[in-house]
Amino acid sequence: MGALLIRGGVLYPADTTDRVVPDGAVLAADGLIVAAGPSAEVEAAIRPEHRAGGLRVIDAHDRMILPGFVNAHWHEMFAMRFPFKGALRSASDRDDKPVFMALGGDVPQISVVFDTFHDHVDRLTPDEALAIARYSMWTQLRSGVTTLGDVGSLNQPQALARAARDLGMRVTVSTWAADAVCAPGDSRFRRTRDTDLELQRIEELLDECAADPDGLVRAWPTAVYGTNMSDELAAGFADLIARYDVPFATHVGALRNEADVMLAYYGATPVRRFADAGLLSNRFMAVHCGFADPGERALLIDAGAHISHSPAKYGQAGESTVSETRVIPEFRRAGLDVSVSTDGAAVPLGGMPEAMRAVWQLYNEMYADPTEVLPTDALAMATRLPARGLDQGERIGSLEPGKQADLLLVPAGDWRYLLNPRPLEGFLSLGGSMDVETVVVAGRVLIEDGRSTELDEDALEAEYLEALSSFTVRCLGVDADTVAAVLRRRTETLERRRRAAAAHHTGWRQAG
Ligand SMILES: [Zn+2]
Repeated sequence: MGALLIRGGVLYPADTTDRVVPDGAVLAADGLIVAAGPSAEVEAAIRPEHRAGGLRVIDAHDRMILPGFVNAHWHEMFAMRFPFKGALRSASDRDDKPVFMALGGDVPQISVVFDTFHDHVDRLTPDEALAIARYSMWTQLRSGVTTLGDVGSLNQPQALARAARDLGMRVTVSTWAADAVCAPGDSRFRRTRDTDLELQRIEELLDECAADPDGLVRAWPTAVYGTNMSDELAAGFADLIARYDVPFATHVGALRNEADVMLAYYGATPVRRFADAGLLSNRFMAVHCGFADPGERALLIDAGAHISHSPAKYGQAGESTVSETRVIPEFRRAGLDVSVSTDGAAVPLGGMPEAMRAVWQLYNEMYADPTEVLPTDALAMATRLPARGLDQGERIGSLEPGKQADLLLVPAGDWRYLLNPRPLEGFLSLGGSMDVETVVVAGRVLIEDGRSTELDEDALEAEYLEALSSFTVRCLGVDADTVAAVLRRRTETLERRRRAAAAHHTGWRQAG
């Protein structure tokens, strides 16, 4: 692979100094960053061997150069586009209801729904799983995410791993690990699945990924939710993270009503159960965690745990995770790494830029202090900090020599940025996922001008819709005609777009 020089942009390396370089550049060779800093310094670092292999130069004027986003808490769920008021809903349907996660959370119901995901994963054919994973992960890559942390998906981890390699992005894969349920009306948890089999699945995945040839794919054990985890499964996780030397993630303390349900069904509050199992450490990623009680908070702070939260998603799900208790912003004040993530759903959720905007606005509003989260803090929460949460802080998450060349270019020259010398602030005010123009992973330019450089995006979409259609009809009980009618609307849209583009093209030729 030749060397790559990106120069003349506003560089935000997201290193520990949080410096900003107005005329900045990055030089990469063999997938690694050789130099990052002022353009003149970086260009002075170019050696004959960088030119010998063909030095590609990208002009980054009127652009920000950012590290690739690290979305450490995400789920692949795009197979479920039809159920839960999904694709079958009409645009005029205003019958919105607070469900599942809203109003403090119907935790037993969530536990039951999560338990059913397991069976769906097994019913996807390998081809369906791959087509769905590729399209779903492309939407993340297109939004600037260069590294994903899978905290259990409604898809097969092998498909996610293969899709990451096809797309050229990084992923840490997991399994949908759950062996119990807190069913509504019961008074105690009930076992639903063989614990050893659950542990065997993740162990096989850890073995497979340890042998990954290109360094893009890793694996970690994750628990879906404490409600769906027996003590035996927790003990098995503790054994795996010790033997494989890997971090661990779980949703925990996510909802107001969670602690009561956990006390009733398991006899202990959620964070305490993970602590009792020996899982709490500085390699424990607590996802959402806004409802830890004072004792649990002390446990997490003492352990130096990592907190990942998804503030661009909470409002639409009816979760008051940040503002109801303020526990997550207080964790940050107590010195824990608090990062942002997107979470996952059957439709695309707010991306990493939207999550950055949410913490920037929400935390500053909560503390009546515009310096509580600076724009560069929000960037670190989307890059350097989540990289540490994935135990990859030495390798990715900031633009520093020796690290992987994972970076983004975001245009910052239009009216939104006029006479604003601080483009990241302009981006957090008016920018978003769709503004990401160029995505580079390990020195490879994967997205340029907002389009895939190597993959046919129309084919990715068509293969996704075909896989979605066959899975939905075969496994989710939606009849074939209904699915076909929904997908026909999309085909017609694409056809109209093609005709309009062709007419535009002909018009130009005639005019010329
Ligand atoms: Zn989640």
